[in-house]
Amino acid sequence: MDFKSYIRDIENFPKAGVMFKDITPLLKDANALQKSTEALLDLIGDVKVDKVVGMESRGFFFAPLLASHLNAGFVPVRKPGKLPAKKMSQNYDLEYGTDSLEIHEDAIKKGEKVLVHDDVLATGGTAKATCELIERLGGEIIQCNFLVELQFLNGSGKLNKYHLTSLVQY
Ligand code: 5GP
Repeated sequence: MDFKSYIRDIENFPKAGVMFKDITPLLKDANALQKSTEALLDLIGDVKVDKVVGMESRGFFFAPLLASHLNAGFVPVRKPGKLPAKKMSQNYDLEYGTDSLEIHEDAIKKGEKVLVHDDVLATGGTAKATCELIERLGGEIIQCNFLVELQFLNGSGKLNKYHLTSLVQY
């Protein structure tokens, strides 16, 4: 299936100068949603996964679907102030300034095998901060998996110690 035909470019979103890859046409098409989920599972392969971690907010589209197929649990990594229980924070650099992500301290047990999933890998800051949170909890990252990789932004350079997979690349 030509997944790229279900991903559209939106100019100047969320701010001027950014070309945003919008995956909602893929999500709303029953066949494309099913085929892309199957293709992501093929990329992940036949590995044991205890937890699938998805990042707020577009990582939440596929991560629970993948977790369900992999017989794993789903763990959300969220923007600051959204998680209700005891949590851990990780700062990361943006183009201008910093941001942070949070995870519940009891979300992952030491030694658990973790798959990281997000819709888009851009500069890699979000995924790197997420991996740091998982490793601080003692999780073992078996793969970082993305629907889309924007290769021209070199996000993979920040994740070179992990096994990285993506369904479509630009
Ligand atoms: P990074 O931290 O790698 O620069 O940015 C990745 C995060 O920003 C992901 O959580 C992703 O959802 C979001 N993101 C960045 N660029 C795009 C884009 O063009 N399309 C979509 N759908 N998300 C993006």
